[in-house]
Amino acid sequence: MPTVYLVIPCYNEEEVLPETVKRLTVKMNSMIETGRADKKSRMLLVDDGSRDRTWELISRYSDENELVSGIKLAHNRGHQNALLAGLMTAKDSCDCAISLDADLQDDIEVIDQFVDKFIGGCDVVYGVRNKRETDTVFKRTTAQGFYKFMKVLGVDVVYNHADYRLMSRRALDALSEYQEVNLFLRGIVPLIGYRSDYVYYDRNERFAGESKYPLKKMLSFALDGITSFSVKPLKMISNLGIILSFLSIIGLIYALVSYFMGLAVAGWTAIVCSIWLLGGIQLLCLGVVGGYIGKIYSEVKARPRFRIEEYKK
Ligand code: UDP
Ligand code: MG
Repeated sequence: MPTVYLVIPCYNEEEVLPETVKRLTVKMNSMIETGRADKKSRMLLVDDGSRDRTWELISRYSDENELVSGIKLAHNRGHQNALLAGLMTAKDSCDCAISLDADLQDDIEVIDQFVDKFIGGCDVVYGVRNKRETDTVFKRTTAQGFYKFMKVLGVDVVYNHADYRLMSRRALDALSEYQEVNLFLRGIVPLIGYRSDYVYYDRNERFAGESKYPLKKMLSFALDGITSFSVKPLKMISNLGIILSFLSIIGLIYALVSYFMGLAVAGWTAIVCSIWLLGGIQLLCLGVVGGYIGKIYSEVKARPRFRIEEYKK
């Protein structure tokens, strides 16, 4: 029987934690009864530098409930880093780890299927959402656009898979070799390459509290995903540059011809417009280049991605 760890990043989740721990305790006990998990299995709650009573709750649960362990990060490092901290901690004690959100938006009933596939020999099992009805139209279309764009860029991400997944200990060991600071786990995990499978599930509404992924964070996350896994945008802007230079040569010829034919008019508007247009495009391109340089900057520094302040086993 495998030792299964449920790794759960929590940021200001005092409203949902009591219910989450209650439901997951029931789930884990049934897994232990049905022989899917052994008694050393745990849910590992990662407090991502919360400012509410999250850590207080976690440490109390870990005292009361032998199925609960907790780690406290020294700062808020964001969902991906918190998840990584949890996975890297779980790695040394588990046979497989399943990552899920604290708000139980991901249907926990499919955990059994995850574990069955692991027992059947898979190293990575991706949770894939059946439908996105619980999302707003905006989130649905932007998310779809994102997955399509990643595909165009040739990045291997699993469509409609977020961070609900199982990883074997071997896969976690492999994951620990990827020392990226700009973490985008959905892009890294497929690179590991061990045998993988999918489990389909429905995503529910968050049952309490509000999303910790406001639009701004979501956009920067998507941008991270793109720039960490593909340099194609750099090629795209140079192509854009080539096309524009070509067009301006045509424009130049046209202007010269009309000048010599005596048709030249005071083209002030056209000049100003083109200056603005080109200036804008140049800035845009510089911004893309700058984005990559920023990435290099933070990767080169290779600062630690998280720091664990406390571990309650
Ligand atoms: N989370 C985190 N650190 C952060 C933001 C979020 O650990 O800085 C956790 C959060 O507690 C939750 C998970 O990441 O368990 C997903 O966040 P949320 O449910 O708010 O995102 P959404 O489901 O709205 O995309
Ligand atoms: Mg959520």
